[in-house]
Amino acid sequence: MPPSFTANPSPKSVPPHGPDVSPQPGETQGPQPDALRILAVEDEPADVELELRVLRQAGFEPHCDVAQTADEFGELIRKNSYDAVLADYKLPQWNGMESVEVLRREGLDVPVIVVSGSLGESTAVECIKRGAADYVLKDHLARLPESVRHAIRETELRREHRRAQEELARSNRDLEQFAYVASHDLQEPLRMVAAYTQLLAERYQGKLDENADKYISYAVDGALRMQTLIQDLLSFSRLGREGAEFQITDCNLMAGSALDNLQTSIQERGARVEHDVLPSLLADRSQLLQLFQNLIGNAIKFRGPDPPIVRISAENTGEEWLFSVADNGIGIAPEHAELIFAIFKRLHTRAEYPGSGIGLAICKKIVEHHHGRIWVESQPGQGSTFKFTLPIRECRMERGKTNQR
Ligand code: ADP
Repeated sequence: MPPSFTANPSPKSVPPHGPDVSPQPGETQGPQPDALRILAVEDEPADVELELRVLRQAGFEPHCDVAQTADEFGELIRKNSYDAVLADYKLPQWNGMESVEVLRREGLDVPVIVVSGSLGESTAVECIKRGAADYVLKDHLARLPESVRHAIRETELRREHRRAQEELARSNRDLEQFAYVASHDLQEPLRMVAAYTQLLAERYQGKLDENADKYISYAVDGALRMQTLIQDLLSFSRLGREGAEFQITDCNLMAGSALDNLQTSIQERGARVEHDVLPSLLADRSQLLQLFQNLIGNAIKFRGPDPPIVRISAENTGEEWLFSVADNGIGIAPEHAELIFAIFKRLHTRAEYPGSGIGLAICKKIVEHHHGRIWVESQPGQGSTFKFTLPIRECRMERGKTNQR
């Protein structure tokens, strides 16, 4: 049995000196004390008593277990739930700070307050760095209740934040599932509609009146457009479902393949695309190819009066790779800079520039899947620079020349 002494001491065990805050018979009942489940990592029973007394005086109703070794601590936290751990820094058989690591390993978010006789400033800072919520010196125990209150509040906020994030992730998964099922199942009936309206157009073109020709062509156009949208939506929702293993990926090769795939529009528009020597990094290769292809494709498509010039570069910021794809095209007004990454958001009609408005939403999803960020810096008429970051781990820069097409 781990606790070797003083489990949940009764008020009787509080030493007789010091004010007793419990209401006397006949007295009006004050605010209800806050129940507090404490795990003390401590070898001195008298110190535990003092801590509990200070907490009681501050309006808590503490229930306390005591552990002196890692095994006892592990056993207790697996069996019970606690609001806070009060850990002495140095015990004969253990260092109380290690309770932080044990809690982390067990996936438990319980604040650890180091309560110690003497703690140099650098050790105190070290404790906080290693994950302690606070430290309180034993000869300043009056600080303990506020420290406990604060740590519990912080933990509760963290838990709420985690709950909200989990809820958001769950609702995103539901939405993705819905988009996937809807786009997948809509494909077949839509294929029928598109095929038969096209057949109608072929068979009856010019055989009915002028209005009929017009209506049929609207129907064909609408069905084909819906097919493109549904296929885009399907490829967007597949991104989250069918991600491949990350492997060392040479971004020079990915940019090169993107340029090969874009050869026709590069030639048609007389575009010049240059890229610096790019890094290799851990990534989903086909997603990275798609990322480059969408960004370079847009840089060529949204051209200004001059032939497109596109420049791709990457910079090691020390924390991450910062890529940029810069063009001399029509540019984007700053108020649209975020909007364009939303699915199906476009700033132009299809007659001005073809497209369905999914390319940048896919880019965002790919970059976020790789734990990066993406944004655009631009002004209308002054070109656009799309920037994205990718984590630096497992990356190395290939030495060499600038490539050009
Ligand atoms: P699409 O290209 O099919 O319209 P995207 O999601 O790729 O869809 O882009 C969304 C919108 O962002 C585009 O319609 C365009 O208005 C704007 N945009 C994207 N890339 C550029 C660019 N390089 N220069 C100017 N505008 C751009």
